[in-house]
Amino acid sequence: MALRAASCALLGVLVAAAASAAEPPGVRPGAESFPVATAVRLGGDEAQTRFVMDLSRKIDLHVFTLADPYRVVLDIPEVTFQLPPKAGEQGRGLIKAFRFGLVMPGGSRMVFDLRKPVRVDKAFVIAAAHGSPARLVLDLVRTDRASFLRRIVRDDRLARAEMPRQSRPPPASNDPRPLVVLDPGHGGIDTGTRTPSGQQEKNIVLAFARQLHGRLEETGKYRVLMTRTDDTFVPLAERVHIARAAGASLFISLHADFLPRREGNAEGATIYTLSNTASDSEAARVAEKENRADVIAGVDLKAQPDDVANILLDLAQRETRSFSLQFAHELAGEMKTATRLHKRPLKSAGFRVLRAPDVPSVLIELGYVSDGHDLQSLLSQRWRDRTADAIARAIDDHFASHTAGARAGMN
Ligand SMILES: [Zn+2]
Repeated sequence: MALRAASCALLGVLVAAAASAAEPPGVRPGAESFPVATAVRLGGDEAQTRFVMDLSRKIDLHVFTLADPYRVVLDIPEVTFQLPPKAGEQGRGLIKAFRFGLVMPGGSRMVFDLRKPVRVDKAFVIAAAHGSPARLVLDLVRTDRASFLRRIVRDDRLARAEMPRQSRPPPASNDPRPLVVLDPGHGGIDTGTRTPSGQQEKNIVLAFARQLHGRLEETGKYRVLMTRTDDTFVPLAERVHIARAAGASLFISLHADFLPRREGNAEGATIYTLSNTASDSEAARVAEKENRADVIAGVDLKAQPDDVANILLDLAQRETRSFSLQFAHELAGEMKTATRLHKRPLKSAGFRVLRAPDVPSVLIELGYVSDGHDLQSLLSQRWRDRTADAIARAIDDHFASHTAGARAGMN
């Protein structure tokens, strides 16, 4: 419901959105009342590693571990992280790297990538005393894989109960207009791609999704729903679930790509559809990168809902795939009038977020943040206007050509 209501305030939001793409994630309303994390320290070696974080006050925590890849996850109440921009990129000892951020309203999370299997020896918070701030302490000790896995089995039920599942699809509607679901990628703890200057994919694509949302609502022809409207994390399967439960007619996932300089130059937008086998090695790389969102945010992949498993084998998905492909072509046709396209703009790969068997779905990589020209576009309001208009026209084309007759089997 909050998702629909958000659209009413859209004009106000657009101004904020334009600013937010160029800035670090804004401070959330009420954030001043949250505990503040001000510094982190790592000590030790590959036998034993200690992580310490200074906090403005004592908080509760819940810790669990995940395998393949080995991770330790700390769930804590919502915390304002005032840490250096590169905090977590460099690990030490058993910790390869770590991330932190919101996973749901009121809930933050820290995810530690591990070099080796570990046992969580201690995890606690000491209250502030004698002029020292409150401190969160995590002690990890090297263990073997078998012990690590045994521990997970014991923790399993708890870990599943802790899975973020914050979004509620709106109740079924009598509104006959088609429902378009916009899916801004990443969010919260999962920043997506980052530029050296600190621009984050999660903010860029959210600003664009808001623009497109407004544009589609203006037409009056569609209902529009966003899988996230702020800087929180939504698991991939949850995004698919939102679209299916709400009865979406179209699902558009929005992302931005990054290609390290050593791998060459790439520019322009690419439109992806789902396939078992990637159309080329770049498509495989992009799908692998985007599918990592859940790993990054500490989601247990084994605990995914069944509705995204093995559905590629289902013949019922053939029609959906054909609609998805046609829509991708329509998108390429309209988008090339508004923005640069990649030299091969239509590709396919095994994106988890495109796996709804009954909702035509595409994933748009709007451009490369590694390319100066693309990045300038992605951050520009004029480009957003133009490109959202082009996508809206493609959506018009799509629904104009796929009437009830087409759905009855003329394809
Ligand atoms: Zn992405």
